[in-house]
Amino acid sequence: MPELPEVETTVRGIAPHVIKQAIKQAIVRQPQLRWPVPENLNALLAGLAVESVSRRGKYLLFSLDAGTMIIHLGMSGSLRILPCGHPAGKHDHIDIELANETILRFNDPRRFGALLWTAQPPDEHPLLKSLGPEPLLSGFDGDYLYRESRARQTPVKSFIMDSHIVVGVGNIYANEALFMAGIHPSRHAGRISLARYDRLSKCIKTVLQDAIDQGGTTLRNFVNESGRPGYFKQQLRVYGRTGMPCRECLHSLEEIRINNRSTVFCKNCQT
Ligand SMILES: [Zn+2]
Repeated sequence: MPELPEVETTVRGIAPHVIKQAIKQAIVRQPQLRWPVPENLNALLAGLAVESVSRRGKYLLFSLDAGTMIIHLGMSGSLRILPCGHPAGKHDHIDIELANETILRFNDPRRFGALLWTAQPPDEHPLLKSLGPEPLLSGFDGDYLYRESRARQTPVKSFIMDSHIVVGVGNIYANEALFMAGIHPSRHAGRISLARYDRLSKCIKTVLQDAIDQGGTTLRNFVNESGRPGYFKQQLRVYGRTGMPCRECLHSLEEIRINNRSTVFCKNCQT
């Protein structure tokens, strides 16, 4: 599933190909995604130029003269840049044809992704307006997590995965950051000290930034004609390593379910 680092890498990968390009037309083959694609998408987009591409949480924001096209990759979505006329495959639901004879193609086998349009400032869109801060920006730190967590009974892992608290900390990154910070994933969010939240906020930034740095090497895949952009596998410390030895202390890693999500941790290192 594309997580924040993959979305960030996608933004960086496609931006040079679409910025300053006028849109010739939009072709929608399958409008039934997580939410319906606007029926008049072609009328909305044709003739407009892409001013910038950015990311908010896991949403890609294409800023155009008259509004913003919002894309979410869902569970299985991807975007690629291809030459105009490149044959469409089964799950290639939307093509945005650009003036430079290329297409931005949205592929999504499971169709949990979305393409939406807003003429309002994107931060005011219902999907975006209640999102928490970006984890890689300076507003996200130990003080913030400490303040937001007081009196909360929820497990710290669920707390940091709540997009109203902070965006983009998916299951893998929550597992990894909690291990790095030495915090047990079930511990009540409201019972963690400021010093530990300081450490946790730094670990969240580190795991996400490491993944983005690693993703940089896959940028060329966004203009590859065969296959999907390669989402990157990083060297994971705990996620997917149930029963294997902890890299710090060699104790066997344990797995529990929190919010029905796989949670792997070291009972010896995480308290
Ligand atoms: Zn350990």
